[in-house]
Amino acid sequence: MSKINFKNSQNISVQKKPTGSNTQGANSELTNKALRTVSAFAPAAPVLLAQNYSSKSAFKKMQEVAKNLSEEEIKLLNDGVDKILKNKNLLDFIEIKNITAKTNLAAHAQPPLTIQNLQQVQQGVNAFFNGSNAVIVNREAAPNLIFHELGHGHNNKFSNFSRKMLRFYPQSQVTPFIVAFSSLLLNEEKPKEGAELTKFQKVKNVFRKMLPFLAAATSLPMLIEEHMATSKANKWAKEVLSDNLSKKVAKGYKYGFMTYLLVPISAFLISFLGMKYKDFLASEKNNNTKQNQNNKVLNA
Ligand SMILES: [Zn+2]
Repeated sequence: MSKINFKNSQNISVQKKPTGSNTQGANSELTNKALRTVSAFAPAAPVLLAQNYSSKSAFKKMQEVAKNLSEEEIKLLNDGVDKILKNKNLLDFIEIKNITAKTNLAAHAQPPLTIQNLQQVQQGVNAFFNGSNAVIVNREAAPNLIFHELGHGHNNKFSNFSRKMLRFYPQSQVTPFIVAFSSLLLNEEKPKEGAELTKFQKVKNVFRKMLPFLAAATSLPMLIEEHMATSKANKWAKEVLSDNLSKKVAKGYKYGFMTYLLVPISAFLISFLGMKYKDFLASEKNNNTKQNQNNKVLNA
């Protein structure tokens, strides 16, 4: 009994499509497409959560390096920073803004730096280069972070390439995600029935497949600039600090770089997994339609 009913209901649903109006079919295809697009955004949530978690862990590890510095090490680090400032003539073009527990933050909050950024500096958990001529650091709580910011300042002054990277830096934190989420709006091109994919459709599909890589690649200005600043910082730290202390400095930067690296990884996964899921749903639907058509033939 139930089997017959099932068959009948399938039969009805199959007949609906070919005999129903074209508009209805087109509408339901449109709805399916829209649903698949919404579903493609689903993998983004766990990816972003994982990125957030990993980023926080790496950031915490970076903070621990500064927190575990002894009084003596803090003094040695500041002496080292002073030597680099002098030996590389950095004070000719870089201003050091020392933000400590007593600093009035409101007086220093100037774009691109927010009060929140300055609070991080005050707590000794971060340091910044303002993109032109100042490094915003905490010499009392996190002098280990200063070498890297000086590296940005030096790059900005002497490297045309680095200046270009710095110009695109703010965008390259956002564009990976813009490209990744935009890629989820596109559908894989399918050939019309009985026909093959046109050249244009093939190109479109190849381009679509490359979007996860493109999303990740747009973070390159940020990654390259960060890597260049860190390489310089590690080289300078080795010049003026003991082996042990320069290794501690490098360790903090390693964790710092990880937080940047998570951006392209996350964008790649959002795009790649989202599109894969969307294509999977489209193929499922295709199979169902084919199944229905076969049933229709059998039932006719
Ligand atoms: Zn940096």
